[in-house]
Amino acid sequence: MTATLSGTGPAAGIRAEVTAAAAELTAAGTPPRLAVVVATADESSAWYVRSIARAAQKTGIACSVVDLGETATPERIGAELAALSADPAVHGIILQTPLPADAVFADLAASIDPAKDVDGANPLSLGRLAVGLPAHPPATAEAVLVLLDHHGIPLSGAHAVVVGRSTVVGKPAAHLLLQRDATVTVCHSRTKDLAAVTRTADVLVAAVGRPELITAEHVGEDAVVIDVGTNPTPDGGLVGDVDAGAVTGRAAGLTPVPGGVGPVTTALLLQHTVASARG
Ligand code: NAP
Repeated sequence: MTATLSGTGPAAGIRAEVTAAAAELTAAGTPPRLAVVVATADESSAWYVRSIARAAQKTGIACSVVDLGETATPERIGAELAALSADPAVHGIILQTPLPADAVFADLAASIDPAKDVDGANPLSLGRLAVGLPAHPPATAEAVLVLLDHHGIPLSGAHAVVVGRSTVVGKPAAHLLLQRDATVTVCHSRTKDLAAVTRTADVLVAAVGRPELITAEHVGEDAVVIDVGTNPTPDGGLVGDVDAGAVTGRAAGLTPVPGGVGPVTTALLLQHTVASARG
């Protein structure tokens, strides 16, 4: 039997806490505000931004979407991030991707005040995370840990294999798993015999961006699999990095796509915003 490790329960729990915190902050004269800076016409990015704005509003967090257009220069984007960082009415800042071709995400994210860096995008936030100092972790990486904890998966001494080494997901997820005393292996596109490595995982995190790359041969019996992938399908749906049909029956647990990592990620962005507003 493969348990479905749903994200909707933990996400609802986090949103309920956020709603209470946002009401308290607003009553105390500090209404929490999130700003999302956009410089793309990408439709899936627009969909994601709308879903963040909707979730924010439902929890009592104001959300301003600052759309600079897809021709925005890096200087313009950096200046906007610096202005939002200096604005005392703004408590959380997200820099949405993709960016224009001449913009370097990490360079621009360095303009986000680390205290307002609710998606852990500033390289300083990742550095602090790596050395164990307080920082907002990237929400998607943290969502992996929230899901594992919510579903009672033990991590100390477990072998966790993370497939993907991006700065937004793979690397910070590996750091967070290490902090929880897992033994961590990170795989990437040059890993030799990926399936041989991933089969040894007690906890397998797939953050690749390749639809259904992870199949039955990649998963050891009774492994717990967290599917971070969100790959759009031609019919407008979403498919993960894990072939759920092939893995079901073999893994002990698997997060669904959609309904797994995604809703927890959004809830954590809001949680980070109220934490930042509390100061
Ligand atoms: P990314 O920056 O493109 O990184 C992908 C990683 O996968 C890279 O490290 C790459 O290796 C590795 N990789 C690619 N092909 C591989 C292969 N055949 N075998 C092993 N490793 C391979 O992607 P990302 O931003 O981390 O996102 C990963 C997935 O998570 C995407 O589907 C994205 O949409 C999803 N995502 C979901 C959420 C959410 O809230 N649910 C949030 C963010 C991202 P190299 O480093 O060697 O190139």
